[in-house]
Amino acid sequence: MDAHTPLRSRYDVIVVGARCAGAATALLLARDGLRVLVVDRSRYGADTLSTHALMRGAVVQLHRWGVLDALEAAGTPVVRATSFHYADEVIRIPIKARGGIEGLCAPRRNVLDRVLVDEAREAGAEVVYGARLVNVVRSGDRRVDGVVIEDGQGHLKTVGAGIVVGADGLRSTLAELVGAEPYRTARHATGNVFGYFSGLADDGYHWYYRPGVSAGVIPTNDGLTCVFASMPDRRFRDEIRHDAGAGFDRVLSECSAELARAVAGGQREGNLRGFPGQAGFLRQPWGRGWALVGDAAYFKDPLTAHGITDALRDAELLARAVVEGSEAGLACYQETRDAMALGLFEVTDEIASFEWDLPAVKEMHLRLSEELKGEVAAMADWRRAPEVPASRIA
Ligand SMILES: Cc1cc2nc3c(=O)[nH]c(=O)nc-3n(C[C@H](O)[C@H](O)[C@H](O)COP(=O)(O)OP(=O)(O)OC[C@H]3O[C@@H](n4cnc5c(N)ncnc54)[C@H](O)[C@@H]3O)c2cc1C
Repeated sequence: MDAHTPLRSRYDVIVVGARCAGAATALLLARDGLRVLVVDRSRYGADTLSTHALMRGAVVQLHRWGVLDALEAAGTPVVRATSFHYADEVIRIPIKARGGIEGLCAPRRNVLDRVLVDEAREAGAEVVYGARLVNVVRSGDRRVDGVVIEDGQGHLKTVGAGIVVGADGLRSTLAELVGAEPYRTARHATGNVFGYFSGLADDGYHWYYRPGVSAGVIPTNDGLTCVFASMPDRRFRDEIRHDAGAGFDRVLSECSAELARAVAGGQREGNLRGFPGQAGFLRQPWGRGWALVGDAAYFKDPLTAHGITDALRDAELLARAVVEGSEAGLACYQETRDAMALGLFEVTDEIASFEWDLPAVKEMHLRLSEELKGEVAAMADWRRAPEVPASRIA
């Protein structure tokens, strides 16, 4: 936003946060004919601290919304297999082409989020960057009735809304302003160091496990491969963060000598990035005049690579409730979200504990796989299926 951005005085919905959760929610609401404003303090097309492996549920949603072609046009490769490495044992699972979906994909966040924002704009949503939520306004009965946003020059603007949606991430300002409390918290958290490499073979997702460490390989845009090393958050704090490069190499070597060799033979493009870990939570996701979606509402450890899939799923659940326009609809959003999230949340917390041996983590992965299958089955008959031609990815 700058001082000249012409905004209406009131919208049906104001979404705070223009990444996967916020942009997806905005595009669905705008397609349903609502007047939507999206504000984000960041800038268009910026990257963020996240790897980006999508699970099938996310690809199903992106296909349904007709945005896979744009991801394909941005050079996002199709992922046709997932390989689990338990020490030296490798279990390779081909990704079956099903329901018009040819494979999985892992677009960089500066691709995925940008494509979703473009689609939201195309559908009629107004999207303003450089605008930070600083407060909410309330009506006489204390219902949230709008926002106060601040631009880069410190100018404040008050804008009214039928509902304010916080898609503003882990440390959500909206959650804080409305006092949305977590009612479920995880016990464990993992640290993570990741980077991008050229010169590695594109052979699908690879996930590596040895007691105490984990790693992953994610093919992505521009011929690059995202490689991450993961460890208990305490180890990240005590040892890894002081020298992320040496820590990354050490954890990869502990996980798989073969992977460490392959990465050493590639070329790192850009800096490594570190995430110290954050215990997961489910927050109260709605109240009078407000709702939360994405990490703002529900965060779980990145080790199971499901946060973006959650965000897209919950964007659709929330959009449905907002269009319905009743508190019963929002209560149903929460209930459905919890029913779909809790199994994943629990098994992710167990995997993130690193308190397992290889037979135990295999059993956890079987449970995780059942949860993922259940999620896709539940989504199968969701509405919003625009007429889109099957693309290469879908
Ligand atoms: C290290 C790491 C690796 C991960 N790997 C994966 C993976 O492989 N696969 C996967 O599915 N998930 C992964 N995740 C999880 C995934 O990144 C999140 O679930 C996802 O980013 C949630 O998206 P979101 O839109 O809810 O929030 P965010 O991506 O956090 O976006 C929030 C937006 O809100 C804006 N904002 C915040 N506060 C304000 C404010 N006051 N005013 C205006 N704007 C504001 C921010 O600028 C930002 O653009 C990973 C996470 C981490 C940390």
